[in-house]
Amino acid sequence: MSENIKKGGISVDSEHLFPIIKKWLYSDKDIFLREIVSNASDAVTKLKRLESLGEVSLGEQNYRIDVVLDKTAGTLTVSDNGIGMTADELERYICNIALSGAVEFIQKYEKDESGKPQEGIIGHFGLGFYSSFMVSDTVTVETKSYTGAPAVKWVCNSDGEYETFDSDREERGTSVIMKIAEDEAELLKEYKIKEILEKYCSFMPVPVFFSDAEETEKEGKDKKEPEQINDTTPLWMKQPSDCTEDDYKSFYKKVFHDYKDPLFWVHINAEYPLNFKGIIYFPKLNSDFEPIEGQVKLYYNQVFVADNIKEVIPEFLLMLRGVLDCPELPLNVSRSYLQNNGYVSKIATHIVKKVADKLNGMMNTDRESYEKIYNDIKVFVEYGCMRDKKFFDRVKGSVLFPSAISGKLLTVDEYLETAKEKHENKIFYATDKTVQAQYIGMYEAQGAEVLLLEHTLDTQFISTIEADREGLKFLRVDADVDDMLKNGEAKENKKLTELFKKVSGKDDLEVSYTALKDEKTPAIMNEDEQDRRFSDMMKFYRMDGMGDVPGKAKLIVNTSSALYKKAEGYIDGKDNDRAEKLCKHIYSLAVLAHRQLTADELKSFLAGEYELLLDL
Ligand code: ADP
Repeated sequence: MSENIKKGGISVDSEHLFPIIKKWLYSDKDIFLREIVSNASDAVTKLKRLESLGEVSLGEQNYRIDVVLDKTAGTLTVSDNGIGMTADELERYICNIALSGAVEFIQKYEKDESGKPQEGIIGHFGLGFYSSFMVSDTVTVETKSYTGAPAVKWVCNSDGEYETFDSDREERGTSVIMKIAEDEAELLKEYKIKEILEKYCSFMPVPVFFSDAEETEKEGKDKKEPEQINDTTPLWMKQPSDCTEDDYKSFYKKVFHDYKDPLFWVHINAEYPLNFKGIIYFPKLNSDFEPIEGQVKLYYNQVFVADNIKEVIPEFLLMLRGVLDCPELPLNVSRSYLQNNGYVSKIATHIVKKVADKLNGMMNTDRESYEKIYNDIKVFVEYGCMRDKKFFDRVKGSVLFPSAISGKLLTVDEYLETAKEKHENKIFYATDKTVQAQYIGMYEAQGAEVLLLEHTLDTQFISTIEADREGLKFLRVDADVDDMLKNGEAKENKKLTELFKKVSGKDDLEVSYTALKDEKTPAIMNEDEQDRRFSDMMKFYRMDGMGDVPGKAKLIVNTSSALYKKAEGYIDGKDNDRAEKLCKHIYSLAVLAHRQLTADELKSFLAGEYELLLDL
């Protein structure tokens, strides 16, 4: 029988603290189990350490943590065979929690900026154990120290009143028995406890077993053995040289519930002083339409902390998936702590460097495979470059663009190499292979390359490249008539200009004259690169409020074309009627080769065509 040896209350302050703990942590109360199981895991780690230091000699030990659900008794028990506590230690570590510090903190920062209860108080002040009171009516601790000191039992109610007893416990270690409160009945369900354990404890370093007392106490074949929840040596803790490709793939599929293989991964093993480990995976996307849903899980010594902590992981890496284990961070990280932490920003920098090194490594050693996956990682690379200058500086040599002509993937430098004699420092691109086919063809005919930048992000990204390389200009194929396309300059034909203005219905239509090498095309439309980019951006953000309006384009008449000469002839011969009809067609065809016609334009174009056919 145990004998009552001590009675007490957890100081006056605790009267304030207990309701606060219950109220404040309510939103995330599942973490109580993480805290209690982590303490158990720490207790084992501490004992192992003492052994490795030669302070104790225990021989072969079967270290484990047991989480036992007892529905009949209404309890959840977490037991370990770790270091245990003497009566004195229990008094020091459990009864005299760092109350003064915690109460002061709570009074000072009652709510965070958004008015929500402040996260992460528990743990900062060694309150982890007390989170058990969020869900329990009473918490009993029974413990026996490795030193062989007599075992003790401590029972505390949810008002913070406790009693300490002698205990006849014989095994070394600690059991925390939580009598689950009535309004937390869900915690007496097996699925719920397993769900919490799987979330937080899947990779804890000490084996964690779950059992339902009802099942393990059965006789014969119905008896169930406790089930191990965790993998004590997760892949990220191993040396990269000890991991196979299959190991990485199956770990990825298991952790991220993806049936597809990842494209590739980066295993980071940062030593002192950064001291963190992790694996970053590049997922394979289903299609362009699938939003990229990244997930980077943060662990603290193999205990899950949270997903997607953006203070630790650079924002653009949150598009990826991965695990990071940072034992230098406190288990309970508060946002403000992370934001102002030099260590955290060093972690982020290191990850960015490793990811960039991996991309460059693939580009330089296995370009073929790199090209195969490039389309899948393109958004990530471009977005990353736009968000993080350091990342851009590292990977810019590995950024690729497809050619609209050959389909080959080229870097900016490779493109410029092909352009050396023709158009130094200019990169011609198309945003739509079909709509801009005529222009692409004109460049192709001169042996020039044209890049294909189909995505909205591409066209924003080129500004980043331009800002980085002085003098370099990206020009869409319809932005300007490059010298290489010309045969020479030409004089304006004022009468034709007037006619073009008339048939276009635009008094302010800008018309200019050039002799192109291409002798078939009578006229083309051009739109200033900067103006177009600006209006594209407005459209993108829907700032014009009018939907898709065609931008302001100018007409360039090709004086080397046969049709131009024909129109000139009509003017000279005063056949104004024919000249006007011809100009109308030339104008419509130029617009048609430039962009999609509006409904009215299309109707009037077709009407003109039908009329023309009558003359055939
Ligand atoms: P923290 O773990 O952050 O120090 P806790 O309130 O969770 O704060 O625990 C306070 C202390 O109680 C621990 O530091 C440890 O010394 C002791 N303790 C808690 N659980 C156990 C356990 N299962 N075995 C041994 N000691 C424990």
